[in-house]
This record gives sequence, C-alpha cells and structure tokens, in this order.
Amino acid sequence: MSYEIEGRLGPIFNCHCSKCRRWHGAAFRTRASIRSDQFRWLSGEHNLTPYASSENVTKYFCKTCGSPLISTYKDRPEVVGIPLGGLEGDIEGEPEAHIFTGSKASWHQITDLLPQFDNWPNSESRVRDTND
Ligand SMILES: [Zn+2]
Repeated sequence: MSYEIEGRLGPIFNCHCSKCRRWHGAAFRTRASIRSDQFRWLSGEHNLTPYASSENVTKYFCKTCGSPLISTYKDRPEVVGIPLGGLEGDIEGEPEAHIFTGSKASWHQITDLLPQFDNWPNSESRVRDTND
C-alpha cells in the first residue's frame, strides 16, 4: 500500500490523546493534516480498512500489515490526516508542539522543549487543522 503527498504539510503535532496512543501502540502519534488534493493513493487501496473512531472521524489501516494510514473527517472532507511515521523520505518542517498532554501516558516523560498543550494550542489551530 502506498500513497504520495505533495506540497507543504499543515502544522505538525505530537498528539498524546488516548485514541492516538491506542491506534499507534505508542506514547504519542506525530501527525499532520494536508488538503485532500495534496494526497493521492498509488497502490493497494483495496487493502484499506476503515474504522469509525468517532462520529466525525474515520481512520484507515492496512488489512494486511495493520499499519495506520490516514484519517478523514466528515465535517472537513477537504482534509486528510496523516501519521508522519508512515512517510518515506524527508519532509519539510518538524513537530511544533505536544498536544493533548492532558491525557498523556503516565509512564511517558516529555523531555524536549516544545510547547505543551492540554488540548489544542488555540482556536486558530483548531480551525486550520483537525485532530484524531
Ligand atoms: Zn490524538
């Protein structure tokens, strides 16, 4: 299964919410959003398995290898959420903050100096981005 993206990523966050932790089996998920017209499947689309993680959000994973792939949003069809761990090659930009640290795993310590937010950094980010 492969896809390609082009252009700049939206803001990159390390998300510590419980859904991201469970979905990735990790302390947090590094994620960004892009416009859907920046995203294109290249192969293996038939292997996609959807999972409705909430009323608004559908997450897709690969039914062969289990890799988490993308998230789509009912209220924002023009946006695709991608986990950066699934990308090959270099990207422009790096995480700018830890978000949803209010639900961070108790066994994980954040040791870098990035800003931390209990939820979303501010309402502007919420407008230009979509979590989950
Ligand atoms: Zn999250």
